[in-house]
Order: sequence, then structure tokens, then C-alpha cells
Amino acid sequence: MPEVNVLILDDEQSILDLCVRLFRNETYGAAVTKDYREALHIIETSDVKVVLSDNRMPGISGVDFLRLAKEIKPEAVRILFTGYADVQVAEDAINKGEVYRLLGKPFELQELRALVHESIERVDLVRQNRSLLESLQKRNAELEELSAKLKDMYESQQQLTYTVSHELRTPLALIKSSLDILDSDALGRLSDDQKCFVGRTRTGVERLGRLINDILDLAKFESGRMDLDFAMISPKEIVEDIIDMHTPLFRERNLAVIRKVTPDLPLMRADKDRLIQVFVNLLHNAMKFTLDGSVTIGAVLDNQEGIVFSVADTGIGIKQEDQPKLFEKFRQVGSPARKVGGTGLGLSICREIVRCHGGRIWLHSVPGEGSCFFFTIPLVSPPCG
Ligand code: ADP
Repeated sequence: MPEVNVLILDDEQSILDLCVRLFRNETYGAAVTKDYREALHIIETSDVKVVLSDNRMPGISGVDFLRLAKEIKPEAVRILFTGYADVQVAEDAINKGEVYRLLGKPFELQELRALVHESIERVDLVRQNRSLLESLQKRNAELEELSAKLKDMYESQQQLTYTVSHELRTPLALIKSSLDILDSDALGRLSDDQKCFVGRTRTGVERLGRLINDILDLAKFESGRMDLDFAMISPKEIVEDIIDMHTPLFRERNLAVIRKVTPDLPLMRADKDRLIQVFVNLLHNAMKFTLDGSVTIGAVLDNQEGIVFSVADTGIGIKQEDQPKLFEKFRQVGSPARKVGGTGLGLSICREIVRCHGGRIWLHSVPGEGSCFFFTIPLVSPPCG
């Protein structure tokens, strides 16, 4: 016996008999009765999706019966058989949501069958939608929980990075001062071999110190704990300062320095030390990867973006496919031979500093010809976030 999905209440035996014959071969079950109490019991105990009722019956009106049916199974489609005299009361019931559809008497059997099919499909669709919605809500809740967990994990990982890097600074400073004492011959003259070991240790300590500083900087930027010290500064002055700082290095490497700075550039709001950090990173990279030729430092005004700084070299260049990876953390591109002594964090830090000024950083590079890194600093920077 298929599950009862359709219930028909009518006091006319001939209608009930017709319905029994009509729904006999369907995949769903149909129950018929003249007794409204029995009808309510069936609705309560079966998976009734469609309730059909006559209106004029002894004991209860169809509208009142369907109202009770609605209380038991609100989602079931309620259909009222109506005669001409019932039209007004039936329309009121429709307006109150007690009745879903009217079927005027006398009705065609095919019309009744089509209406029942359509109603069952409707209820199935409503159920499907509801269960879809419920599973979406469940998935959403799971995703929210997962994202909160990830956030927690990320924050504790950040905290760990921060604490470990910070804690490493003290012993590192101790090693450095011990190396200074050894180097100063205060504990006796060092042999050439000993000096060589001290020198290598110093290089390692300095490298570790740079790495710790870079990691700390990035952790601060990423957690929004980096405080920038904004002031109005001159783009021209910053370029001159940076060139002064690096002149001995350029000479040592036999690299020409060219400046391309537009005269009378306006002041900009920036953190001078952090901007110098960006330039230092870019210039050190330029020098690392340029055996001969020149390094050009530029500053021009762009009406939309503010000051556009650039550091261009005539070095080995960077392959097109490697360029998008450069600003990722710990990324060093190209052959191992060219991974000269960096941490792979420099450009990530540059990007964070520039981002905190409201600017952007990008590059143009042609392998074998050189690279040019550009970054913008708006004249008025937003607060870092
Ligand atoms: P690193 O500390 O290793 O220099 P960066 O983030 O500053 O880290 O640079 C990442 C990588 O980008 C470098 O290791 C190098 O492969 C490439 N790169 C950066 N600047 C240049 C440049 N001017 N010319 C060629 N390659 C460069």
C-alpha cells in the first residue's frame, strides 16, 4: 500500500467512489472519508500532502475543516470543492490562507487529477527547498565555525612568530657582542684561522638578525600592529638621502647612479624611515643582480596616484612567469646561482609598507636587459589598515 498523500472528505458517496477509482493506480495513496474526525486523524498520522474537502457537509463546513487541517499540516495544499452558493465564503478562506485552490462542482476528473499532481509536486518542491535551505544553513554555520578556528590558529601562529622572533634577538645580541670582544683582541690576538671563523660567524649572525627583523616587520604589518610615523616629507629629499647613503656601495660595485626626479614635486605624507626601508630593499636587489651598468632612481608626479618612485637597473632581469611570485613571502626566483644571500622577504615587506601608505608596487622587467620597480605614495596617505 503506498503512503497516503491525498485525503478527500465529502459526504457524497458517489464522489468518494469516483476518487477511489481515479487515484487507484497512482504511485501515491489516496484516502477518502465522510467523517471529518477520521479525516483529521489521517492528516495527523500520514504524510498527507493534499487535502480536498467538500464545503457543505453535516457537522462541519469545508472551510472550517480545512482551517483545522492547516493547523495540523500547514504545508499541505488545501482544496475546496465549491458550488455556486459558496463562492464568497470560499474566496474569504483563500484570502485568509486557509484554502489554496477552489474546484467548482461539478468538476472534470482529469482536472481533479491534474490539480492533485500539481499540488503534490508543489509540496515536494517546498520540502526540497526547505531541506536545501537547512543544509545550506548548516554548511554556513560549519564554515563560520571553521573560519573562526582558522582565525584563531592564524592569530596564535602570528603571536608565536612574534614572540619567538623577539626572544631570539637577546641571545643574538649577546653573540654579536661576544664576537666584537673577540675581534677587538681584548682576550688576546686571534690567529688568522680564528679570525676567519669569527668572520663567518658574524656573517651568519648578521643574516639571522636581518631575517628576524624582516619576520617581525611582516608579522607586525599582517597583524595590523605596525605603527607608522607619518609626516610631510619631500620626495626629492628622500631620493637624495638614499643616494648619499649608497654612494660608497655604488662606487665599490662600479655602478653609475642616475637620478630622474621631476623638479618642484609637492610634499607627501609618509613615514620616512619606512620609505627608506623600501628604497634600501629595492636598491640592494638592484645592486645584487646588476654586474655592470647603472641604477636609476626616479620620482615623478601622477595626478591620480601621487608620487611614482622607481628603481631601475641594467641587471639580469626577471622572467615574465616569475614576476607575479616576487611579492610572496620567502620567494626567491630564478636559478639557485642567483639566490644571493637574501631572505625572500624584502619585496613582501616593501609591498606592506607601500600598501600602508595607500599606494601600490609593481615592476617591469626584461631578462638580460634589467628590471624597474615602481611604487606609488599618495600625497595624502590613509591610515594603515
Ligand atoms: P631577497 O631578500 O631574496 O632579495 P626579495 O623579496 O627582495 O628577497 O626578492 C625576491 C627575489 O626577487 C630575489 O631573490 C630575486 O630572485 C628577485 N629580484 C628582486 N629584485 C630583483 C632585481 N632587481 N633583479 C633581478 N631579480 C630580482
